[in-house]
Amino acid sequence: MGKIINVKELLENAKIDLQKRVNKIKEKGINPKIAVIIANDMDSTKIYVRNKKILAEKMGIQLDEYIFDVNVTREKIISLIENLNNDSSIHGILLQLPLFSQLNEKELLDKISIEKDIDCFHPYNLGKIFVGDTKLYPCTPKGVMLILESLNENLAGKKAVVVGRSNIVGKPVAHMLLNKNATVTICHSKTVNLKEETSKADILVVACGKANYITKEYVKENAIVIDVGINRLDGKVVGDVDTLDVLDKVKYITKVPGGVGLTTVYCVMDNLCTLIEKKINI
Ligand code: NDP
Repeated sequence: MGKIINVKELLENAKIDLQKRVNKIKEKGINPKIAVIIANDMDSTKIYVRNKKILAEKMGIQLDEYIFDVNVTREKIISLIENLNNDSSIHGILLQLPLFSQLNEKELLDKISIEKDIDCFHPYNLGKIFVGDTKLYPCTPKGVMLILESLNENLAGKKAVVVGRSNIVGKPVAHMLLNKNATVTICHSKTVNLKEETSKADILVVACGKANYITKEYVKENAIVIDVGINRLDGKVVGDVDTLDVLDKVKYITKVPGGVGLTTVYCVMDNLCTLIEKKINI
């Protein structure tokens, strides 16, 4: 029987170290502050932002919200981003996705200063991952790696398969695995025989957005499976992996909910510290 990874417990320990970093920053006379721009009216966004605010407050980080209604223009958001970029009391800017349909996600993300890009969605910061020269990573891939590192398994030489190639999950996580010397295959909707690829994986990271898609036929005996998916099925939240079906076959697996998703908010605060530490050279 495979082991379900206790992400909650691993984060409790990680938060203790993170708090020490926040305290050290504050000792240098800096009050860490995040600006969150909200230009959508989705309930899920309200929950995500509330969770970020709760952790920020616990750690002594200020989080200011800038909320817009459906009539907001691109000019207004651009002007706000420019003001926040130039405001030295702001250390991190989050543009909460998705955006109202009249707004162009890519255009607006590109306006955020690379020094305040705590989501790490700017092409410059994403490119740094490709070069292998950064401490800043997008939050979900960073969460995946945090979970893998907690297992104390040597990733070097392992066969890793990533299902999904989005810019915010699949591609960065694949490069992060490559940077750890895994042999990486990236699969996507045009992959001809997905099962053949995934069933060779010592480490399988699934981020395809298809409820319970990966069943035991797709999984290698004793594999480590990280399920990034968050899907709604019959009123329940489920991952991209059919956890119960594969559990007997795997070595470790994350569950949904209560897996990768838990790491995201933590990683936002981690990225904030990383950017401030770089700026003040500590
Ligand atoms: P996207 O929709 O942007 O990307 C999905 C990827 O999966 C695409 O590359 C797509 O291929 C690929 N794909 C789709 N169907 C198949 C298939 N049948 N076989 C193989 N590959 C397939 O999603 P995201 O990357 O944003 O998110 C992926 C999942 O992770 C979602 O469930 C999302 O909700 C969840 N998520 C969870 C987070 C968390 O905090 N845990 C954060 C972000 C996302 P192609 O490129 O060819 O279209």
